[in-house]
Amino acid sequence: MIHNSLKQLSQALAAKEISSVELTTLYLDRIARLNPEINAFVTVDRDKSLQMAQDADARLAAGTAGPLTGIPVAQKDIFCAEGWTTTCGSKMLANFVSPYDATVIRKMHAEAGLVSLGKTNMDEFAMGSSNETSYFGPVKNPWDLSRVPGGSSGGSAAAVAARLAPAATGTDTGGSIRQPAALCNLTGLKPTYGVVSRYGMIAFASSLDQAGPMAASAEDCALLLNTMTGFDERDSTSLDRPAEDYARALDQPLAGLRIGLPREFFGEGCSAEVMAAVQAAIREYEKLGATTVEVSLPNSHLSVPAYYVIAPAEASSNLSRFDGVRYGYRAPEYGSLDDMYAKTRAQGFGAEVKRRILIGAYVLSHGYYDAYYLQAQRIRRLIANDFAEAFKACDVILGPTSPSTAFKLGEKAADPVQMYLSDIYTIAVNLAGLPGMSIPCGFAGGLPVGLQLVGNYFAEAQLLNVAHRYQLATDWHQRRPAGLD
Ligand code: GLN
Repeated sequence: MIHNSLKQLSQALAAKEISSVELTTLYLDRIARLNPEINAFVTVDRDKSLQMAQDADARLAAGTAGPLTGIPVAQKDIFCAEGWTTTCGSKMLANFVSPYDATVIRKMHAEAGLVSLGKTNMDEFAMGSSNETSYFGPVKNPWDLSRVPGGSSGGSAAAVAARLAPAATGTDTGGSIRQPAALCNLTGLKPTYGVVSRYGMIAFASSLDQAGPMAASAEDCALLLNTMTGFDERDSTSLDRPAEDYARALDQPLAGLRIGLPREFFGEGCSAEVMAAVQAAIREYEKLGATTVEVSLPNSHLSVPAYYVIAPAEASSNLSRFDGVRYGYRAPEYGSLDDMYAKTRAQGFGAEVKRRILIGAYVLSHGYYDAYYLQAQRIRRLIANDFAEAFKACDVILGPTSPSTAFKLGEKAADPVQMYLSDIYTIAVNLAGLPGMSIPCGFAGGLPVGLQLVGNYFAEAQLLNVAHRYQLATDWHQRRPAGLD
């Protein structure tokens, strides 16, 4: 049962082969057994989960269930969920219990009837690529417990890879769904900016943050995405568009599909073994009837530097709310009000978060704003224009998700720039606001390799189709880590 797809679980629930309470118990027991080693979940609340499962069973019995009602999921701990501790991986929020639901949580739980298995570990305030910046300790990669699962959605990725949950949510500001999906052999999708509401999702860099599904397959991601999207008047950047069924095009043949291969993604910077798996995937797509065309994203080498101006600038503003006054951590001993702010923030934030706040405050300050922030915004526009030009020649863009497979715990922790380069292929997609996916495409030294697919605005259904056809022809996404059953 734990290896079943969401569709199979949905059919089993509908046929009354298993109840949601039984299914949820199965996963909760597995979490109790394996989580102490993997550290994928920071909060589990058995009673709450089982209550949700009971409610789902009532809906299934009453005939008011949706397609995913009763299926358990893991929620990244960046989403506010009423009555659940919501930490965002930080000491600052270690004891914060949310009084309300994020829109994603409300839609998935109250509307779609999914059952929460708990909140997953993550890099502090989603800043990181290895899950090592979490206040709650690192997460271990189920494929090799001495390695990182990627980040910032590392807990969600490890939870699904170890089958502690059939699927999970993640968020992606510069790669945080796609890179951990790649490192843990999962399928993950970052939607077009504005498709999923950010209300109640703790803000890192508001113009880049976007939530999306992480699961074993493109089909699972499509079903999950169906429960997450939609206009939300509480998010001023939410887009008012007609509802879509993201699974509608899954089976379409790929004959005639034009795949763009950006010259810049196939040069140096990527490990040879990752590149070999990506090249094999290209040959597979050609067998499926696609054609390839070389395209160029000439400004993509500027995406990491531009991102590390824009994202910290927005973060420094967003994180100013954590001041020890209204909620969250407050230093136990202080003198004046200023001293209370200073001590609270000095004690409540970890080193990476402080580094981002300092960079952000610096690039926004008088005298540097034009030189850094404004310049980065101009580069952002150039990067978006590059994609627009490339999409004149192709339907989807393909390349590696991450330049390497999962690295050792501690290997890059002391070198922020090395860590930042984990996202060289993913960040441009956020800067342009485009949808992007990572899908499993092979192994190198026993570790999973991810293939990135990038679509034009609102091309989620097409991306899922391109991923699904590949998954029908290959079995990389069905491989599971050994030794965890
Ligand atoms: N690794 C990138 C960072 O540290 C991206 C994180 C994310 O997408 N949330 O900012």
